Amino acid sequence: MEKISQIATGKAKSLYTTSQADQLIMEFRDDASAFDGKKKAALDNKGKVNNQFNAFVMEFLASKGIETHFIKLLSNTESLVYKLDMFPIECVLRNRATGSLCKRLGIEDGLILDPPLFEFFLKDDDLGDPLITVHHIKSFGWASQSDIDAMSSLTLKVNEILVDFFNKANLILVDFKLEFGLYDGKILLADEFTPDGCRLWDKDTLTKMDKDRFRQDLGDVIEIYGEVAERLGIQIKLD
Ligand code: C5P
Repeated sequence: MEKISQIATGKAKSLYTTSQADQLIMEFRDDASAFDGKKKAALDNKGKVNNQFNAFVMEFLASKGIETHFIKLLSNTESLVYKLDMFPIECVLRNRATGSLCKRLGIEDGLILDPPLFEFFLKDDDLGDPLITVHHIKSFGWASQSDIDAMSSLTLKVNEILVDFFNKANLILVDFKLEFGLYDGKILLADEFTPDGCRLWDKDTLTKMDKDRFRQDLGDVIEIYGEVAERLGIQIKLD
């Protein structure tokens, strides 16, 4: 499958059309960004590590009954995915308080959230991805009630599956962000699941093993992503 033309480029990935109208090539680049693009860098091997990490997690989720846009790996940095009609919404699930939640509500960092906290954000960089409620989603027509219900229950199901998955690698799944889209009227999990879009803490030391290493200048960003992959038994090809 060959790339034909670029249809979208984000902060870390680009999307290309293919000869199949309903399939796209998703390319993971080495670019890293944080704070709505204010902090940027290129990190060697990031594209390869995240593409293969994402493929493994998407296939694992599919094996547990979560339908995703992922079709197959094409190369170390590229995957074939279904073209979706994306909801302009980010679904964030938090098992512990940290990041923007602590800033917004003055909550103690690391507080265990029971039940886990679900939040919707509007996917809009220019507005800084603001927190929204189901009422905003319905009044502005960003998704229907049944789509909202499906995104919420799929996000909770992904959390149950992945808390256990990361726990076996001695990692706490602190929080993560998911995006969904429609394919032929059906909701599929889209975008990516990598250490760029979740927080993972070592269970014993609470060492941060995710994009906070980049956000907070903690160093060894991709080395640590690689360690997470190794703990999960993911073989990353760098050649
Ligand atoms: O920044 P905040 O604490 O709200 O992030 C919650 C989770 O969602 C983190 O795992 C973060 O990496 C992820 N996230 C993301 N993309 C965004 C916003 C948050 O992947 N635009």
